[in-house]
Order: sequence, then C-alpha cells, then structure tokens
Amino acid sequence: MESVLPRTVRTTCPYCGVGCGVLATREESGAIGIAGDPHHPANFGRLCSKGSALGETVDLEGRLLTPQTDGKPANWDAALDLVASRFSETIREHGPDSVAFYVSGQLLTEDYYVANKLMKGFIGSANIDTNSRLCMSSSVAGHRRAFGSDTVPGTYEDLELADLIVLTGSNLAWCHPVLYQRIATAKAKRPQMRIVLIDPRRTMTADIADMHLAIRPDGDTALFVGLLGFLAAQGAVDRSYVDRYTSGFNEALAIAKTHDLRSISARTGLAPEELRAFFSLFTQTERVVTVYSQGVNQSVSGTDKVNAIINCHLATGRIGRAGMGPFSVTGQPNAMGGREVGGLANMLAGHMHLEDEAHRELVQDFWMSPTIASRPGLKAVDLFKAVRNGTVKALWIMATNPADSMPEADVVVQALKACPFVVISDMNATTDTTRYAHVLLPATGWGEKDGTVTNSERRISRQRPFLPLPGKAKPDWWIITQVARRMGFAEHFSYDNPSQIFAEHAALSGYGNHGSRDFDISAYAAIPDEDYDALQPFQWPQGQEQFQEKWNPIFRPELRQNKELEDFRDSKKNGNPPVEIAAEKRFFAEGNFYTQDRRARFVAVRPANREAADPRFGFTLNTGRIRDHWHTMTRTGKSARLSAHFAEPFVEIHPLDAAEFGIGDAGLVRINNDHGSIIVRALLTDRQARGNVFVPMHWTGQFAGMARVDTLVTANVDPVSGQPALKMAQVAIRPF
Ligand code: SF4
Repeated sequence: MESVLPRTVRTTCPYCGVGCGVLATREESGAIGIAGDPHHPANFGRLCSKGSALGETVDLEGRLLTPQTDGKPANWDAALDLVASRFSETIREHGPDSVAFYVSGQLLTEDYYVANKLMKGFIGSANIDTNSRLCMSSSVAGHRRAFGSDTVPGTYEDLELADLIVLTGSNLAWCHPVLYQRIATAKAKRPQMRIVLIDPRRTMTADIADMHLAIRPDGDTALFVGLLGFLAAQGAVDRSYVDRYTSGFNEALAIAKTHDLRSISARTGLAPEELRAFFSLFTQTERVVTVYSQGVNQSVSGTDKVNAIINCHLATGRIGRAGMGPFSVTGQPNAMGGREVGGLANMLAGHMHLEDEAHRELVQDFWMSPTIASRPGLKAVDLFKAVRNGTVKALWIMATNPADSMPEADVVVQALKACPFVVISDMNATTDTTRYAHVLLPATGWGEKDGTVTNSERRISRQRPFLPLPGKAKPDWWIITQVARRMGFAEHFSYDNPSQIFAEHAALSGYGNHGSRDFDISAYAAIPDEDYDALQPFQWPQGQEQFQEKWNPIFRPELRQNKELEDFRDSKKNGNPPVEIAAEKRFFAEGNFYTQDRRARFVAVRPANREAADPRFGFTLNTGRIRDHWHTMTRTGKSARLSAHFAEPFVEIHPLDAAEFGIGDAGLVRINNDHGSIIVRALLTDRQARGNVFVPMHWTGQFAGMARVDTLVTANVDPVSGQPALKMAQVAIRPF
C-alpha cells in the first residue's frame, strides 16, 4: 500500500474553514515535511501555526488501531456485524427514530454523503446531526430565510477588494489566521481600507482594526437593526435593487424605525458617538464585506443576528458584487461539505430541503431508496436529550468528542452512560467520549484520508493520502458502507472508492435540472481515479465546462429553474482597482435568489430583550478558540511548540474584576454555576470587558480534568437553528 502512495501530495489542512492548500512530504528521515501550497487559491502558500505544525501531529501515539467490542479487540467482520445487527434490531423493535448518528465537520464530503444517505434514505429517519450544528447552523438558517438556500455569497477575494471590512463575532487573527493575513496584506497595500471589529473582547484581531466596538454580548441584532434604520434615514437604501430583487423591506424597516441611537446604545452598550461613527462609515462606503463567525452564530438569537446583517447588505444592494456582501466563515474544514450533502438533521442532500415534498421525492428517486425521512430529525442538543431519556436507543458517533464539546457536557456523559448501544468511529483510542462506547471502530486520520472538503468560500479541494493506513484503521466511508451492506442495502452502497461517491454526489446535485432525470447511475461508477485524483480546487456552482460530461451535467441544485449564474468581472464593470479577479461564479449580483419568486427576503427581526442576570452569579462566560489549538486537542496537543503558546487552561479576566475578588495573575480560579465547576488559571487582561470572562474550549478531561468548560454552558438554543449559545453562560468566580 505504502509503495503506491506519492511522497509529496497536494492536500488540504484539516483544521479551520479557510481550507488552506498544503504540500505534505514524507521525508527520508521519516519526518513529515509541511509547506503551504503556493497554487491553492485559499492561501497561496501561507499557513498558520497550526497548519505548519501538521507534521508533528501524525504519529500513532494514542491511535485506535483495531476494532473493539465491549473493550476487547475484535476483527472487523465481528464488529461490523454487531453494529449492523444491533441497529437493525433496534429499528425493528422501536422504529427508525430510535437510532441516531452524530457526525462531524471533520468528516470528508464522501463520508458525510454515505452517512446521510444511509440514515435518511434507507433507515428512514433524519436523526443525523453534526457538530457543525454547534458551529454555523444559525448561518445556514439565516441564509435560507433570506436567500431561499444555504448559499454563501462571498469569496475570499472580496475581502481584499473591500474598502470596509466589518468583523463581527469573529477573532479572525486566531481562528482563521490565513484570512487575517490576507486582509493584513491587502490593508498594507491599500491603507485606506477600513476595518471595524465588533466584539466584547479586544482580541488580537483588534490590532488591525481602525475601530473596535466593545459590544455587549448578544447586542449584534440591535446594532444591525439600528444600522438599517440609519441607512434609511440617510437615504442610503438602494431603492432600485430593493424594489426589483427583494421582498419584506418595509416590515424590516418598520421595526428599525422604532429604535433610535439612544435605544440602540442602551441595548448594545456602545456610546451614541461610536454608533454614529460606525453607521456613517458603513453608509458612506460602497464596498463593504461583513464577516461573521461563532460570536454571531452561537447564540439564542443567532439566526436573527445573521438576518439583521444580511438585511443591511440587501438594503444597499451590496451583495454578489466584488468587495461586497455578508460573509459567514465556517469553523471546521468541512462544515460546508457537510451542509452540501445534508449532514444536518433538517436538510437533505444536494442542498435540498427536507420539508419540501418535491425535493424528498427527487432524492428518493435518485437514490432508488425504499424510504425517505419525511420530517426533520433531532438537532444536536435534542438528540442527546433523546439519548438520555431513552427515546434514542442506538447511537453512532463519528469523528467527534461530544462529552467535551456539547453544552452541559456532563449531561451528555450521563446520556452516553445510559444509552443501550453506543458505536464510536474515531482515530483516537481514548477521548472523553470513547470510554462510553460499546463498539469502537478505528478510522483514518489526516494524511491517510482520501476525499474532498469544501471551505468557507464554497471551494471544493481534495484531501489526498500520503501515509499508509495504520493498523486496521479504515476510511469512514468504508465503515459506513460496510454497515449499510450488512443492514441489507448492499446494492445501494457498493462503492469501491471515494471517487464513486463524489461522482454520485455531483450527479445528485444536478439531478432533475431542466426537468431531466435521464441518466444511468452505473455510468458514474466508471469514473477513472486519475480524474478524481487530479481534481483542482474549484468553487461551486460549476457547470459542464469544469467536468467531463460523464461527471456531472450541472453542479449544484441551486442552478435549477433555468438560472445560469454569470461570471462576474467587476473590476472592469465598476471601475474598481485593476485587480485580476478569478472567473468566479458569483451569486446574487442581479438578484438571482432561490426563493419561489426569486427575490431575497428581508427578515423583520427584533432585538431581543436582555435576560435579567441571575444575582447568584455575576459574570458572563464566553468560550472560544485560541491561536494554536484545535477543538479538543487530540492532534494539536501532540505538538510541543503549539502547546507552548498556552500550556494550560486559563480564564481571561479584567484586572479590576480580579482585584475585587482577590484573584492574582496566574492564581487558580474556580468558575461554577448550576451545571458544573472548573478550576483554571487567571490571566489578567484589560482586553476583557468587565463583568465578562473568557475560557478556551480546548482542554478536556484527558488533558486537564478540571477544565471542561462546556460543562458550564447551559444548553439553550436558537429556536430557529437549534444552535446552542456557547458564548453565553452565567457563572460565579472565586479564588481556589
Ligand atoms: Fe489555514 Fe486554517 Fe489550517 Fe491555519 S488552521 S493553515 S488558516 S486552514
């Protein structure tokens, strides 16, 4: 196996949603050489600290290398037979909704596709949700409300072409470092570019910002509702665009008009002068991109925040044009690929809608499946509640660690303990989740995986293998299809390699375009591996020109209803600076939306009233990432230099708050509430607003038993998206 693997491959970083291209080389010494891919359009050779340390994280220490059943080594056949029979029995006795999959933005698109196909088309339940629910489901919901589809309208080039970048709820410098570097380079070349950071913390991203608005947590909806009112009052609404391409403007504006600067100031905690300065800058600058991330999405009002942002771009017609638009940057390497294949419990494959009977019929027809889920499944938080109360009796967790990453993480642990049958496929032998598995299935990791991922700008890239499969580890798609075959669906899961799955996914995305369902699926199974291996990074939508005819008629269902989207070379059209723009397909420039009437919808969002603080606590806890670690540190924790940035878990606290509670710098602090208690070291910094504290999400029971911060987060969710409010918990602090 090893002999056929190339020594150097062009692949993709497995961490954040920037999706940087990586050149990985097996050196003679056995070390793994890592460099940025100079030709990859996401990063043009750049890498951040995490990406450049990838070679230090691929050893076999801690790897799960053989299947296990009830804690004992087993062979693959026995383990797969057991999984298939227990799932089949449970379905037979209790119905399809008694089983569930909880999957991950770490899966490749091909893995995601077959997991979703098995659950929704063959088991007949939509109980498949993903840790991407924790990451960007509010953005998905906001896009669908506004555009009729989950379509990200921006590209990374827009960030370089913008004259104003608004960063809200995003610590880009640490969480999407290469995008931050691209912006910093663009600003150095064009110092007139303005950057506004909206964040309760003065994060490292503030170092590049011309204006930092230290907004109150969850004040974003009020801020952008206020901006909409300001734009209207200043005569900055593009009436021609609004009238031709949108609906619902008057309703959204009516709410905005009920708020003046004073009321927005009271809700956001920002001074009227700060609001006026930001609103004026936005009003006066044509080319504006508003970048948002978890600070917007991880909230009980995340979807409303997203729509409040989109409303301002629709009102000014600043969308789908170079250097303009709302831009959600995703957390994970393949959050977008998961969205494309229906990895969320409320979506279907090919960006189709589970609640739409015609879409369900089309997907079922394509899959030739015996059934199709007819109602949304359980979203992550509800899924684990259902496990805990016994409604879900068999659970398969793939490539994620919910015992640490879910809100009320201790309740999730109780759910796992109570579940009659837990299967976990993972590359790691010992995480806080794997200890509750009845069956452990060894999966491949980065460097061994073979498939595709989609980054935040809709760019599909290959992840290519350069390492042999260790021990008995197998790709996720293989594991899932082997179980599907044993459950009686062999004919529909007969893939031999990931290229066949990708081709089927591509075919589904074009199936039914122009009313035609005329194709022979067996033709797709004949795609040569060389074509798939050679696939260059590309953005969807792509039509026939990108692929040979056998691959795909038209890539993506969004192109249905006779809408070809035009190439958009704005530099020539609008007299922008002479920047050579790749011939990207751009969305929405001419109001080409996927709603019934093809118009974008303003959503009449109202700023929520602030919940009264619980007098027992006194601090608002914010959780998030740090620069050099990824998720629960199962990989980045292996690199000594990455761990040197912050060697142990900490809480950022304002020096005056610390003094009030008798907490010294580097002293130990207990943080607690009704859900749990953690002990971490104090990091005193005036970057933190008073009354707020920040604790990183990365440390787990495995690395630091007393620092599982998500044990403190209440499982409150956004009512539209189901995304939990991971950035808002009320806590008490005291010296330990
Ligand atoms: Fe690029 Fe993100 Fe990987 Fe850093 S972590 S190299 S920014 S994809």
